[in-house]
Amino acid sequence: MNSTLKTNEMSNKTVLNSQEDFYKDIFHQHTNDEYAQAIQLAQDRVTNFLKENKKPFSGIRPEDMRKKVENVDFDTPLPDYESLLDEVDELYVKHATAFHLPEYIAHLNCPVVIPALAAEVLISAINSSQDTYDQSAGGTFMERKLIDWTSEQLGYDSDADGIFTAGGSQSNLMGLLLARDYYSLEYQKWNIKLDGLPPDASKFRIFVSDKAHFSNHKNAWILGLGEQAIVHVGIDDRYRMDPVQLEKAIAREIEKGNIPIAITATAGTTDFGNVDPLDSISQIARRNNLWLHVDAAYGCALLLSDKHRHLLSGIEHADSVTIDYHKSFFQPISSSAFIVKNKLHLNIIKHHADYLNPKEQNYDALPAQINKSIIQSTRRFDALKLWCTLRYMGKEKLGQYTDTIIETGKKTAELLDNDENFELLCHSDMGALVFRYINGPAQSHPCNVNQYIKEKLFFSGEVLLASTKVNGEFYLKFTIFNPLTTLNDIKHILNLIKQNGNDYQRLN
Ligand SMILES: *Cc1c(COP(=O)(O)O)cnc(C)c1O
Repeated sequence: MNSTLKTNEMSNKTVLNSQEDFYKDIFHQHTNDEYAQAIQLAQDRVTNFLKENKKPFSGIRPEDMRKKVENVDFDTPLPDYESLLDEVDELYVKHATAFHLPEYIAHLNCPVVIPALAAEVLISAINSSQDTYDQSAGGTFMERKLIDWTSEQLGYDSDADGIFTAGGSQSNLMGLLLARDYYSLEYQKWNIKLDGLPPDASKFRIFVSDKAHFSNHKNAWILGLGEQAIVHVGIDDRYRMDPVQLEKAIAREIEKGNIPIAITATAGTTDFGNVDPLDSISQIARRNNLWLHVDAAYGCALLLSDKHRHLLSGIEHADSVTIDYHKSFFQPISSSAFIVKNKLHLNIIKHHADYLNPKEQNYDALPAQINKSIIQSTRRFDALKLWCTLRYMGKEKLGQYTDTIIETGKKTAELLDNDENFELLCHSDMGALVFRYINGPAQSHPCNVNQYIKEKLFFSGEVLLASTKVNGEFYLKFTIFNPLTTLNDIKHILNLIKQNGNDYQRLN
């Protein structure tokens, strides 16, 4: 308790004022002015971030960044919002990566749309929690409507259901969890939720392509199956799962006495942005009674595009799907979903707590989204961002953004193909291009040049590139994710890559 409040000599009024002052930081009915001032000042910093940033990164080195942060003393709070935001500016905003600039072309970070940012203001201040109806009445049904809308885009019928999650990795975990528990319940009459893993769980096998997201491996471990449960299936010349090799891999595992339970196909691989052949894979899954999970964290963008939707053909046969709105729907982090084709499968994860979602409650009358959530109880109303985006911009416009990105990706691939200084590994359905700078046969090892180029451009702050390894070799990677990025921007970036490549040649 604040000691000033206990001082007897103070008049009642002073006590009242100082008490008001003491509680001025709580967001409540008497702190509207305080709130408005803080938000306005924060917004000014955002405006500056947009105005002043000409480069995607300041180039600050980790040792300098660490020192700045370490110098802050938590025992001496700052006197006002001005000084608070000044400090945050120095520590964070000035060195934040600017995803909205064309020279940011590294990872799967989209520029965000403004209706979603308006939604964020509401989400954080009103602070609804999506677990039960009594914590989020409208939010419960708005989230459900967005899940229904997404299911419809996938080609599912009204049996589908799902939930917003924190990200694609979590959604993938839900897919494999349902696959594992469903297999055991259906084919072994064993309830993993109650009894733990069955004796032969170490023989369970999950098939993914060589280019599937690493969360599959982590999730197999989290699920108690170990990474050994993951079987890598060979790929075609565009780094997509090869259905012929998938069939062979399944047969091989059965022959070894192992138990295939699921396939995770990737719609839009993280490195190459290509979609596994979903139609063929879904037929193989059906023939072998395997759960099919489609990781469309990246490729869900294709749902928006009339022109390119056909690439997802077959996704409607999947048992479950991962959607990352914060990757491909221009949404701020976090915004993601897990969708199942048959809502009954979600019953696997239901767990009742007397204080929150008691068993005897009628959930048709009084819904509780928590019944569908695996690891989040308290959960943000992230769905409002997608809601505002769809209501204000509409699906068609988002689809056109996606088409533009894919078009820029195709033209960039042509540029790389036609330039003798570049080696492009393959074309992309989405706009992820893996390539490297080469300069004649006499050059030093291409891995070193390309590593040099990436690092040089990063610490100059001029261009942020991604990189990856293919067959042990180092490659650069573009993830084209901004509809505002023009071919001229790309040419400018390619020139900078060449200049730095030439510099390296001269220095070595
Ligand atoms: C990014 C990505 C994920 C992980 O999603 P997060 O939202 O980062 O957890 C999963 N799968 C693919 C193919 C991805 O590209």
